[in-house]
Order: sequence, then structure tokens, then C-alpha cells
Amino acid sequence: MQRKRVIIEGIVQGVGFRPFVYQAAERIGVSGWVLNDSRGVIVEAEGEAGKLAEFLRVLREEHPPLASISRFEEEEIPPVGERGFVIRQSRALATRSAQISPDTFVCDDCLRELFDPADRRHRYPFINCTNCGPRYTIVTDIPYDRPKTTMAAFPMCPQCQTEYDDPSSRRFHAQPNACPDCGPRLTLLDARGELVPAEDPVARTAELLRQGKIVAVKGLGGYHLAVDACNDAAVAELRRRKARDEKPFALMSYGLDQVEPYARVDETESRLLQGVERPIVLLRHRVPSPISTLVAPRNRYFGVMLPYTPLHYLLLKDQFLALVMTSANLSDEPIAFEDGEARQRLSKIADYFLVHNRRIHTRTDDSIARVMAGRALLLRRSRGYVPRGVFLPGAQPSVLALGAELKSTICFTQDDRAFLSQHIGDLKNLEVFKSFERTIGHCEAILELKPSIVAHDLHPDYYSSRYAEQLSGVRKAAVQHHHAHLASCLAENGVEDEVIGVIFDGIGFGADGHIWGGEFLVGGFSGYRRVGHFQYLPMPGGDAATKEPFRMALSLLYHAYGKDLPAVPLVEAIGARDLGLYLQMIEKRINSPLTSSCGRLFDAVAALAGLRERVSYEGQAALELEMAITGEGGEHSYPFAIRREEGGWIVDPAPLIRAVVEDLQRGTTAARLSSGFHNALAEMIVDVCARVREDAGLNAVALSGGVFQNRYLTERALALLEKAGFAVYTHSLVPSNDGGLALGQAVIAGRMFPAE
Ligand code: ZN
Ligand code: ZN
Ligand code: FE
Repeated sequence: MQRKRVIIEGIVQGVGFRPFVYQAAERIGVSGWVLNDSRGVIVEAEGEAGKLAEFLRVLREEHPPLASISRFEEEEIPPVGERGFVIRQSRALATRSAQISPDTFVCDDCLRELFDPADRRHRYPFINCTNCGPRYTIVTDIPYDRPKTTMAAFPMCPQCQTEYDDPSSRRFHAQPNACPDCGPRLTLLDARGELVPAEDPVARTAELLRQGKIVAVKGLGGYHLAVDACNDAAVAELRRRKARDEKPFALMSYGLDQVEPYARVDETESRLLQGVERPIVLLRHRVPSPISTLVAPRNRYFGVMLPYTPLHYLLLKDQFLALVMTSANLSDEPIAFEDGEARQRLSKIADYFLVHNRRIHTRTDDSIARVMAGRALLLRRSRGYVPRGVFLPGAQPSVLALGAELKSTICFTQDDRAFLSQHIGDLKNLEVFKSFERTIGHCEAILELKPSIVAHDLHPDYYSSRYAEQLSGVRKAAVQHHHAHLASCLAENGVEDEVIGVIFDGIGFGADGHIWGGEFLVGGFSGYRRVGHFQYLPMPGGDAATKEPFRMALSLLYHAYGKDLPAVPLVEAIGARDLGLYLQMIEKRINSPLTSSCGRLFDAVAALAGLRERVSYEGQAALELEMAITGEGGEHSYPFAIRREEGGWIVDPAPLIRAVVEDLQRGTTAARLSSGFHNALAEMIVDVCARVREDAGLNAVALSGGVFQNRYLTERALALLEKAGFAVYTHSLVPSNDGGLALGQAVIAGRMFPAE
């Protein structure tokens, strides 16, 4: 006889781990017990050596679908000779919290019951079990137990309670367990908030959607606005009511068979679509397709997700090729999640509201992913992923990192793990800022962390930096934006060494006070050197240039030609009087800060190509420039000038702009112009990296920053760099945009104050 004590850490609570241990013990024939404590799951098991070894193998290798084990420690202890195997009462919490699992899609077992007329939960929109269902969005505090969730308001009926108490049930300690007798309910309301009588609110909603109505649907982490995606008039009306919003709408389809007619899905994309996290995946659209062209104007991709709540399955079963399921918010506002607030804000957009009485505690947007070079890249890491930890290359003191401003997320670290928050949004919006503060408090509570080190962006005016400013009793680390991007990429790839960082994005505060955004760095977690960058150019009107790409185009034209601007459509469209004004701004540097931004170069080329003079959302011009590329692109390219100055390698776009202008004057297409520009960038990256390799003796390159959400550029640069013998690191687990910045800040700050 042998006895072992096992401590299992990771996401092991609320995911059916104890019943799994219990069932394995019964099956294999070992005695002992299992319990949850603050660290995770503790097991003591006793039996003959062979059986015990088999039991431990099963625990390690066959854990339940939602569990994820981060640490597995076993030690031998003296046998005590007990009989049978039991699940013991959870122990009171010590200091460290067990991790809470992300919200998860409906498992196959629950789905089968959902559509089984004989099942007591037939068509019950809140069906769940220990393997699936809401988690992060309903947790109000720890330990993760029903009273500490928004399910506390629903006492279980005797039948549900029996399942909850039965170790052999799939619903043993499933905290959100419920049924039609005791659980949350749906109601259908009209735009004025009046009850719409309906025996089956879901069936009635589907009917309304078929009629072309707009319905606000309360989901897991917030509200969606739904319309039939094949109904042009309905989609147009939704666009009209969501005024000024040109962003593509996300789609939801029942399964891959329904996606097939309108989008191409490769193997990686199909795995991603069907994964437990259920992100929105960007898929190349088919032309023609039955989907309304207004869903994603000027885009070659549809954002598509498969259903992730029982309600979605009920809505889509046997009907609709796809529904538009776009976050229910007005531009710039956070996704609506509180009932009163949602009805008020959405009353002018939605014709009907399909709501329920389970409160959403934490607002969580849908995650967005895109496959590049055969790997998934998260563009937005939120619902389904949060709060799962990201492993760091090593343990470090606990840090709270506050991120940037526009795509705000925050990050907590504990030992060798980092917890990134859900996507919070643009902190300049007051509602979003409140949500930022709430998220910090909530994460501190559920992670049981109160870090004494706070990291923030170097930009003194970001709301996140100002938040850090007013904190007392903590050590603060101001982290340069592009250094943080670099560290974020290294952290998720587990790289400790110094590398060459190619960091291209829109805007970040530079160490010299200028606006950086096209940077070549050499460095790692403990520091960096700037070894190259795009030539500084005036950004006429500062922030206004971000919204009006034509301004940056003028700045580049001026840089390449001086005052005598060439005859291109953009220049003619602006008109002599305004042109004079802008040129003065540029020449005299009036309200024109200097920038080395690569994002702004994209803007300029998009404006020259006649795609966009103004944008309605961040990154729109760059996105549309990428979308202008047809087919495989081609080999055509434009020249950059690269020269060495005191500040490192300077990349001068003047020859590129002149070549673009000549092509334009010859009447070239936007497609050729765009692929030529992308190819030029990729070639220039390799060129500069090769020079830096000579100087610094480094052979590894990290690509980070929002520009690398661009698939064409990323794949091209990756291929060329690898061909030139470089080892290349790219993002996958966290966004390359500012949504992943907090991770990098956290690791850099952890190294700044190593001994706490
Ligand atoms: Zn389930
Ligand atoms: Zn019940
Ligand atoms: Fe950035």
C-alpha cells in the first residue's frame, strides 16, 4: 500500500475537477479524499502501487475539458488505511485564490439535453453544467461559490439541489446550475419596455428577426444588437440607427455548414471557431454571398462566431444563415450590460429587447481573432479567454499594469503568471474610465492581489497614467510604449534574451517627447535601445491627423516635393486655399508635433490611393488599405531610403512617396499601389534588421504593435525575415495592439523592482 498527496493548481475549481477525481478513484479503486482549498485542488489517495500510479496518470492527463493545470505536485506520505473515496468540504481560504475559469460555450451534453423534448431542460436557455456555462461574467467575489455569483438570487429547486450535491452528477457543484422551475427566465419587451406576451420568447424573437426587426439580445457579457444578416433593409436600418458607425458588424451562424456559403474557412480557423472560447474569427468572404454587403463594407473579411450560449443555439437552430450580432453600443461607448442602462441607451436603436433576469456582473466583449501564417492572433482578448493566466518566463513580484488608453486592458501578475483583464475600451470616454476603475477593484478582489508596484505608460496625459499619478503607497514604473510592446511579445513567447524589436503602431509617447510609432529597438525586459526609426515628420493638427488621413498625406508630399505639390487627385480635391493653410502648418510646425509613426504612413498612402480622406474609427484607413490588395498581391515594390544618423538607422519614405505619386499619375490601381506599399515595408524591415544584426550581433526579431494586425504585412515580413535567417517571434495569445500592452508593462516593472 502507498499513499500520495497531490496538489493541483490552475483552473481546477468550478470546472468539474472534484467529481472527475472522485469518479477516477472509484473506477480505478483507490481510497482517499479530494477537496478544494485556496491554492486549488488537494487529493490524498491510497492504494496498491500500480493502481495509484494509474490514478495519478489519469489526474495529470485526462482532466475535464475546462480545467487547465499549471502545477502538479505529488509527495509520498504514510498510508492511513482508510476505505472508500470522498469529496470533503472545501477548506477556508488562506491567502491565494484559486483561479476562476473564463465563460465557456455550451458543452455537447448540455446541447443534447437542450434539444431533447424528453429532458426537463428542453429549450431552457440557461442550461449549463460543470463543463460549461457562465463564469467570469457572473462572479462577484471569491471563493467561487453560488452565493458569490449573480446566481445567488435563484435558490435551487429540490431536483437541481440533488444534482448539485451528487458527486456522480455532471452538475455536482456547478454553481450556475438551474432549470425552468428555479432559474433565470427570458422576457421579450418592446422599445418602450412593455412586455410582449409570448409563450416562447425565443421563437417570437426569431419571428421578429425574420420580419426584419432589430432586437437587442442580452447575452453573457453584455447586449448584442441582432438582425437577419441576409436582409439588406434590416442591416441598412441598423447602420442608420447606429449613426456614423462604419465598423464591420460581427456575424453569428449555427455551425460551419452555415458559414460555408459566405466565407472560406481553413483548418486553423475552423478549430478556432469551434474552440471553447468561441471568439469572433475574421474569415475571407465569398463573392457573391447571400450576406448583405452592408455588414462589412470595404472589407474582404467577415467577423464570424459560432453560438456560445444556449440562447444563441435556440435562436439560430434551423433558421438564419447568419445573424448580425454586434455589440450593443453607440460609437465609443462601452458595451451595454446593465438592464436599465441598456434599455435607455438602446431604445432608439432596438425595436425589441430579449432580456433575462440573471445579472451580468462584469461587462465582457466578444474576443476577436485572426489567423496569420497558420497561427491564431488575438486582436481582442476578452470573453472566453479572461481571466485565464498567461505564463511568464519566470516568477516576479506582483505588479498591476494599467495599459495604454485607446484599447485599454489591465494586467496583474502573481509569481510566474499574468492575468490580463477583459477589453475595457477607450478611457477618454467617462463610462469606460469608470469601468476601468471597477475592473481594477474587481480583479484585486477575485485574484486576491494588491500589488505594491504599478506600471503605466510613459505618456503623462493618458487617463491610465493620471490614475497611477494619484495612487499613493506604491512604487510606480513609467514604461515607454514601444518597449512595452516588445516586452509583451517576448513575455508571451517566453523569451528572456535580448532581441531586435520591430515595433510599428499608430502612436506612442517617445522617450524624447516626440510621437513614436515606427521603431527598431534592441532590448528585452530590463531595457532597450532605439536603433532605428522612421524619419520624423510633422503631423499637421496633432490628433486631428489621426482622424483625417489626408493631413498626413500632405505632410509626406511636402517632405518629398517641398511646396510644389505634384498633381494628384488628393491635392486637387483639397483646393488651393485650404492647401495653403495646411502647408503653412507643416512648414512652420504650427500645432504639428513630430512623429515617426508607421500607422500614419499607412494613413497617408491610403489617402493618396483615394481610399480614405477621413476615418470614423481608429485604424480604418490602414485596414482599408490592406483590404485593397487583391488576390496574392504581387511582387511590385517601392523604395525606402535608409541612412545612418546619430539616432540610428533612419528610414526615409520620400522615395516611396515619389514612386507612389508617379504610379498614381500613370493611373495605377489602388490594389497595386497597396501591395507595392506593403511589399516595400516588408523588404525595408528585413533590410534594417540585417543592418542591426551586423551591429548588435542579434539574430532574433520580435514583431509587435498594432500594425502587425495586418495579415499581408505580417506574413510577408515573417517569410522574408526567416529567409534571411532570422528567428522571428510574433504575437498569438495577446494582441499585438495596445490591448496587449499591459502584459509588457507588467514584466518590465517586475524587473525594475526585482526584490520586494
Ligand atoms: Zn454542459
Ligand atoms: Zn431547478
Ligand atoms: Fe501601441
